Amino acid sequence: SQFYTLTDYPNGLPDSALFKLEAQTLPDLAEGEVRIRNRWLSVDPYMRGRMSGVRTYVEPFEIGKPMEGGAIGEIIETNDARFKVGDKVSHMGGWRDIAQLPAQGVTPLPDHDVPEQAYLGVLGMPGMTAWTGLNIIAECKPGDNVLVSAASGAVGSLAVQLAKAKGCHVMGIAGAAHKLAWLESLGVEPVSYRDRTAQELSDAIKLASPNGIDVYYENVGGICLEAALSQLNEGARIAVCGMIDSYNAAEPTPGPSNLSQLVIRKAKMQGFIVADHWSSYPYFLNEVAPQVAAGKLVYKETVKEGLESTPEAFLALFEGGNTGKMLIKL
Ligand code: NDP
Repeated sequence: SQFYTLTDYPNGLPDSALFKLEAQTLPDLAEGEVRIRNRWLSVDPYMRGRMSGVRTYVEPFEIGKPMEGGAIGEIIETNDARFKVGDKVSHMGGWRDIAQLPAQGVTPLPDHDVPEQAYLGVLGMPGMTAWTGLNIIAECKPGDNVLVSAASGAVGSLAVQLAKAKGCHVMGIAGAAHKLAWLESLGVEPVSYRDRTAQELSDAIKLASPNGIDVYYENVGGICLEAALSQLNEGARIAVCGMIDSYNAAEPTPGPSNLSQLVIRKAKMQGFIVADHWSSYPYFLNEVAPQVAAGKLVYKETVKEGLESTPEAFLALFEGGNTGKMLIKL
C-alpha cells in the first residue's frame, strides 16, 4: 500500500516537498481488523493544525508516520463480524490507497440516495459543521440577516443554503467570480473580498445588507471578521467555525481593531468544534440527507485524480482552488 507521511512541521505555507509518498507491505489482518480500498479521500483546512507539532483539539501528525484524514472506501478483507467484503465505509485512514484499521473506527455508509463521496462533504463532517454552527451556536432564526465567509466552500455552501431555507436574508463572501456567481444562483447576495481593505469590505457588506448582520458564520478571520464586526446589529451572534486566513501565518496576525463592537452591539461570539456535537449527527442526517437526495439542497465538488494529487489538493484549499468540497478520487 502507498501512504503519505509528513517529513517536518512547516513554518508558514507548507512546501509540497514536506509530503512524502511511501510504500509498505501490509501485515496479515489481526483479530478485529478490516482492510479497505479507499475510493475517495478528503483534505480539509483543519489538517494544517495537525502539522504544527502541538496539540490543538486533536493530536499533531507524527513525523514519518502515515497521515490521516477522512476517507470513503470498500472493505476488501475482514477479520471482524460487523463487516463483509464489498461493504462501503467511511473512516479516518485517508492520505493512503489501502487502509488497514480496527473495525471499531470504521462506519458503514448511511443508506441515502446520494453519491458515496457526499459523506465526506455535504452529508459528512463539513455539512454537520455548517448545521451545528448555524443552528446550535449562532441560534439562527427566520428573518435574520446572515453573513457567511468562505461561503462557496464545503461548510459555507451548506450554511448559506440552510439559512436561506429558514427564510433568512443571506450574504456570502467569496473570492473568484465563478464562486460569486454560484452563490447568486442560490439566492445569496455575493460579496467579494478580493483586493479589498476591511473598510471596503465593510462597505460592500452594508450595500448587500442595509439592515446589518444578525448572524455571522465565521470561516476566515482577518479582514472578513473586521468588516463583519462593523456591520453587526444589536444582539448579533457570531459562530466562529474557523479562521483559515491565519492557518499558514508564520508570525502572529493582528487582531481586529474593532472588537469593541461586541460591547456596543451586545453581541456574542462563540467558537465550537464539531466533534463535540457528533451525538447530533443522526438528527442532522435525518433533516438534511433527504433534501440533498431530492436536490433541494445542492453541493459542488472539486475533484483531483490519484493519490499523488493529495498534497496539491490540500494546499489549494488555502488559495481558493476549490468550489465546494475538495476531494481526491482514487
Ligand atoms: P473550504 O471548502 O471553505 O475551503 C477553503 C476556502 O477558504 C477556499 O476555497 C477559499 O475560498 C477560502 N480561503 C482560503 N484562504 C482564505 C483567505 N486567506 N481569506 C479568505 N478566504 C480564504 O473549507 P471547509 O469548508 O472545509 O472549511 C471552512 C472553514 O471551516 C475552515 O476555516 C475550517 O477550518 C473550518 N472548519 C471548522 C470545523 C470546526 O469543527 N470548528 C470543522 C470543519 C471546518 P475563496 O476562493 O472564497 O477565497
